[in-house]
Amino acid sequence: MSGENCIFCKIANGEIPSATLYEDEDFRVILDLGPASKGHALILPKKHYPDLYALPDELAAKAMVLAKKMITKLAGALGCEGYNVVQNNGALAGQTVFHFHIHLIPRYKDDGVGLGWKAGKLSDSDRDEILDKMKK
Ligand code: 5GP
Ligand code: ZN
Repeated sequence: MSGENCIFCKIANGEIPSATLYEDEDFRVILDLGPASKGHALILPKKHYPDLYALPDELAAKAMVLAKKMITKLAGALGCEGYNVVQNNGALAGQTVFHFHIHLIPRYKDDGVGLGWKAGKLSDSDRDEILDKMKK
């Protein structure tokens, strides 16, 4: 999807109103309309990049620094006991809006938030194959 028809472009640039927690020249941080838990927020760059692969290095670095600042302030405001910082790339990975964003998900005792996976076991063949491919 191009920037023109992108809902997060419109929100990030203020064309569509949002519950904004923070804004600077590069980013807007908003409350998610379908929160996983109370205070679930999204970091949106103001320019359109579909995913992390496309995000310029400089913005990627700034985004992580901003995530740190936001969860530090939000944790104090919300009184949560932990944070998941989540970023989905590709439909198979759960991405539904194809404008790069970072989820900031506060965690509370017994909140029922369903993040996680069943741990497998790293096989010798997978290890060797991946290490070999990454050398190329
Ligand atoms: P994704 O699944 O792409 O990683 O996350 C998209 C997130 O955007 C979801 O958590 C969804 O609730 C949120 N979302 C989708 N449309 C809107 C919207 O118009 N406004 C806000 N604030 N959040 C949205
Ligand atoms: Zn966009």
